[in-house]
Amino acid sequence: MKILIVDDSKLSRLTILKRMPAAIKESADIFQGANGVEAIDLYKEHRPDIVFLDLTMPVMDGFEALGHIRDFDKNSRVHIVTADIQTKSQEKVMALGAVAVEAKPIDEERLAEIFAALPES
Ligand SMILES: [Mg+2]
Repeated sequence: MKILIVDDSKLSRLTILKRMPAAIKESADIFQGANGVEAIDLYKEHRPDIVFLDLTMPVMDGFEALGHIRDFDKNSRVHIVTADIQTKSQEKVMALGAVAVEAKPIDEERLAEIFAALPES
C-alpha cells in the first residue's frame, strides 16, 4: 500500500503517522508533502492508494490540490484532514470528490476505520 500525507505542519503529519495502525505503518510506502504542489507531484509520481490532505497550506492550498488530483485520477481516495469544520468548506471538498472530511487531529480509532474500509488493491 502507498500512503500520501500532505500538511504544512510537520507535527500534523507525524501525528497521522504515529496514529496509523501499526501493521499498516510497517508495511506501507509512506510519502510526505508540505503543500498542494508537492501533493500533486507526489500523487502523480507514486499513485498512492490513499491521501491525507490538509486544506490550509502555503504555495497551493488543499482545495486546489484536491481539484488537480481528482482531474488526474477520478479513482483517487483523498481524505481531507482539517481544523476548518465550516460547512461551506466541507461542502466544497465533498463536491470536489473527497472521500471524507476528518477533524484535526485525527484519532487512532478513525484511522483504523479508514484503513479497514479501503478496498483491496
Ligand atoms: Mg495547514
